Amino acid sequence: METANDFLFLNEDMANKFNPFYEGQYLVIQTLPRNIELRVEYRSHDYYKAKSRCDIENFAHDYTSFGLRIFHQGQLWRVNCSGEATVLSKQQNWDVHPDYLAVHYNQNSDGEIVVHECSYPYFDSLKLTVNRYGESAEYWQPLTCLQSDNGREIDKCPNCGYSLIDDQDEEDEDTPVACIGCSNYHGELYGDAQLICAIHPYGCSDQICPDFEDNKNA
Ligand SMILES: [Zn+2]
Repeated sequence: METANDFLFLNEDMANKFNPFYEGQYLVIQTLPRNIELRVEYRSHDYYKAKSRCDIENFAHDYTSFGLRIFHQGQLWRVNCSGEATVLSKQQNWDVHPDYLAVHYNQNSDGEIVVHECSYPYFDSLKLTVNRYGESAEYWQPLTCLQSDNGREIDKCPNCGYSLIDDQDEEDEDTPVACIGCSNYHGELYGDAQLICAIHPYGCSDQICPDFEDNKNA
């Protein structure tokens, strides 16, 4: 028996939302602005149809961009001018874990899903830290939030490799004078203790360190 829902799938837009993708299918996806969920405007096994639809969409919208991808081996790929898969697309159909979505849409929670420039969604959660002087501070810790990979603390985007945390300023503030520009300098906190470097774990007592190695020569 057909229900009202079955008829929804006759509508192209609804079908695009719910149907799985098929091997070799061309997808016209929204590339900008990026959303948590992939927005598929059009799908076809015909490369030229998909290509022209992509051009039309780009022509018709001023503030939204569209791109053409092919669904191949379970992922989205960029295509060459004959419609063959070339390189893996940075933008994928990311499958966000429902728990993170629930927190994201909860107005009272201290966390949200952020979509990286490359399209990768991660979860930013507010954490409390106490430094070695007993001062507390809040900071944002990015976490993975995909169905298949969630709850991992990350500093870099797993999709494109760019840094997700802007820690450059803090690092400069805490870096001992003797260590600035030294390739041995580590400086990360382990609990309360800061590991300065492998040679001088507690730092060098002098302003000039005998083991200084210039970053630029490394
Ligand atoms: Zn990224």
